[in-house]
Amino acid sequence: MYLYNSLSHKKEEFIPHEEGKVSMYTCGPTVYHYAHIGNLRSYIMEDILEKYLRFVGYDVKRVMNITDVGHLTSDGDTGDDKMLKGAKREHKTVMEIAKFYTDAFFDDCKKLNIKTPDVVVPATTYIDEFIRVISSLMDKGYAYEAGGNIYFDTSKLDKYYVFNDFNEDDLAVGVRDGVEADENKRNKADFVLWFTKSKFDDQELKWDSPWGVGYPGWHIECSCISMKNLGEYLDIHCGGIDNAFPHHTNEIAQSEAYLGHKWCNYWFHILHLNTDDGKMSKSKGEFLTVSLLEEKGYLPVIYRFFCLQSHYRKSLVFSWDNLDNAKTAYNKLIEKIAPLTQGSAEDIDKAEYDRLMQAFRDALDSDVNTAMGITVLYDVLKSKANASTKLALIGEFDKVLGCDLIENAKKLLEESAKASADIPAEVMELVEQRKEARKAKDFALADELRDKITALGYEVKETRQGTEITKIQ
Ligand code: AMP
Ligand code: ZN
Repeated sequence: MYLYNSLSHKKEEFIPHEEGKVSMYTCGPTVYHYAHIGNLRSYIMEDILEKYLRFVGYDVKRVMNITDVGHLTSDGDTGDDKMLKGAKREHKTVMEIAKFYTDAFFDDCKKLNIKTPDVVVPATTYIDEFIRVISSLMDKGYAYEAGGNIYFDTSKLDKYYVFNDFNEDDLAVGVRDGVEADENKRNKADFVLWFTKSKFDDQELKWDSPWGVGYPGWHIECSCISMKNLGEYLDIHCGGIDNAFPHHTNEIAQSEAYLGHKWCNYWFHILHLNTDDGKMSKSKGEFLTVSLLEEKGYLPVIYRFFCLQSHYRKSLVFSWDNLDNAKTAYNKLIEKIAPLTQGSAEDIDKAEYDRLMQAFRDALDSDVNTAMGITVLYDVLKSKANASTKLALIGEFDKVLGCDLIENAKKLLEESAKASADIPAEVMELVEQRKEARKAKDFALADELRDKITALGYEVKETRQGTEITKIQ
């Protein structure tokens, strides 16, 4: 399998640290509001990666944090505390906000068939661990105290901007955000590990530490939660591309300073979902959530299908028209799968099965190319293989794609069977006679029978699934 690695800017063969096992870390949500569908694009694509690794036989352990403290609105060390902002907005405590939006996040994930990682850790439950690692960084000379806060000293590293050769003046936090630089910092790129001098007098969550009462910076949580649960060598770290800098850059700085060796081998970054008028935002106009999609009549899985139609390393534009196109394509796919679920089991056509399975694996092996994987799904439907072979392949592919393909195909058939169960016997009799007439190619009689059915208030139509009868409203 080949994965694009943001560290090397190349597709690299994926070789885990320990044979047959994969350790995988995902930056979890900041639980101050609902996740928008942009955030969820990242989690969908990470879920595909995890499921595919399991599909090809790896023993995967995946860990995710929940950011319930320390994430300021700038992604650096400035701006408001996101959690405090959420609590004020809703006149609740920070912990109430965290609980509510953590549950909401997992509800959304469930609707989108995103598997819950094996280990999920809220940052507030790991404070002792953060203090332990920060103390070690202080002892090793990688961290310093200034103005009451503890900072990471980026000048102690051979290379800090690991993902890109950034121009420090352009990207150092503070300068970038157009706010006053923090006078306490020895170097522009230094970042806070522990705040004691909070700008926020009403900071709700504070803990005792060797440096005074305070709270952790945002970045330290992911390093500590990952290292504690996945050990010193991490195979894959995931997240949206916005997290590459400063968040992941800082994670690498502090983890490698603490460990004294390279920490994570593969960095998997998902490009953003944007709206046609720019960046997806939680504060701008219509806030795009899974619930909003449902209110507008879209099955959440259609959004998942929409995401899978493009490559994770390309930014994706969301519009209702684009989602409608995905809905049409999805429904057509389901209509084609439906007849395969009927009929009795046949022997699997092994040659066709192997050929198409290999094509699917080639697609996913090539840097998780889901769009190509979906093309293979269409190839299955077009293939000359029997229905059982096609159905077996679709069932296997959907273990990775997670689009409820067979379930929804069966549901479609059930719904149409239910609809025909409510049809009066007299109409059904005419429908049967019409079927016979059509079989005998007596189309004049078939038309006559159709008129009789219409006169009784029903419409009869031929579809791929067979004859469809609906009540005329
Ligand atoms: P947050 O809740 O802000 O910490 O973000 C959760 C995840 O969503 C992170 O991995 C972000 O990098 C990712 N993310 C944020 N905005 C977008 C977007 N528009 N498209 C895709 N992923 C995003
Ligand atoms: Zn993180």
